[in-house]
Amino acid sequence: MTPSAEPRLDIDGSQGEGGGQIVRTAVTLACVTGRPIRIRRIRAGRARPGLAAQHLTAVRAAQTLCSAQCSGLEKGSQQVEFQPGPIQGGDYTFDIGTAGATTLVLQTVLPPLLLADKPSTVTVAGGTHNPLAPPFDFLARSFVPRLADMGWHARIEMLRPGFYPAGGGCVQAGVKPAECEALGTLNLVERGPIRRIDAVVHTAQLPDRIAADQERLLRGSGIPLDRVSSVEVRNSAGPGNCVLAEIEAGNHITVLVAFGQRGKPSKAVIGELASVVIPFLESGAAVDRFLADQLLLYMALAGGGVFTTDQVTSHARTNMQVIGRFLPVEFDVVPQDGRWLIRCLTREQVAPVP
Ligand code: AMP
Repeated sequence: MTPSAEPRLDIDGSQGEGGGQIVRTAVTLACVTGRPIRIRRIRAGRARPGLAAQHLTAVRAAQTLCSAQCSGLEKGSQQVEFQPGPIQGGDYTFDIGTAGATTLVLQTVLPPLLLADKPSTVTVAGGTHNPLAPPFDFLARSFVPRLADMGWHARIEMLRPGFYPAGGGCVQAGVKPAECEALGTLNLVERGPIRRIDAVVHTAQLPDRIAADQERLLRGSGIPLDRVSSVEVRNSAGPGNCVLAEIEAGNHITVLVAFGQRGKPSKAVIGELASVVIPFLESGAAVDRFLADQLLLYMALAGGGVFTTDQVTSHARTNMQVIGRFLPVEFDVVPQDGRWLIRCLTREQVAPVP
């Protein structure tokens, strides 16, 4: 590899939460800052350590955007070196090759493309609704609108649904480079008045009684729902089931989800949904725990911001640590009346120069 002017950053992929997010955040920020990195001990503590298909596609996608020189890009690899070049906007297509989460690959490439020299279109094939990842609806209705508040503009579309484990889905994003001087900081401290709480049962290739059961269970779930409905997803490659709750408060929509799977009773699916929706509602926080960890990077790039959330997860704490290795920011996390206040501060704000 050609030596770079910037010293290489060494990232421990097993720190904190120890998952794929460390890899994705690190390569995203390597692209954006031009900093070469080496990530070691990738997912070292996981049952199947190293890069899985989704992580590998995310790193390869980042590599493509900035013509990075890389080593260690193979399935199962626990060490990756990534030396970025200049980011190039354009039209890109990536295929995970499994039902791995397209939304997480998109999240990896959005920041560099938002800072690219020209508009881009990026298409990713794989899963659109996967356990342990943001469902497409979360990205479209909750995440992308909050990016727009900060001046980052992307338009995303689901071309085909793809439930885990069959996959076969496809998402596409159109990305406009941000005008850096127009970037603003995020302020989502107070939750606006709740306008509606709805739940939608999504089923694909499953007997009708499943949606009917889940609708009934939702009505007795303890979630104060205004409306319960169901959608039969027709063009999916395989069966699937998820239940999405949408909480519209002020100008922000929170999207929380629980997934069904073979052998998991509907009662457990609805119970899982209630176990994230009810604490969120009771906390009075503006931002849910999942969106919380995903906004941090954009706040750091914009140089500030503040929000409240119901829970500070190990994903969020680990992401703060990784972001702090690349960018001159610190995160301040304080409990406040049953919720958490998270502030992103530049180092000058943390320690003013005398
Ligand atoms: P990792 O487990 O390290 O691959 O990271 C998973 C990412 O997916 C994190 O950013 C999580 O916040 C996000 N995520 C997991 N479950 C959900 C969910 N139900 N809704 C939205 N985002 C999610």
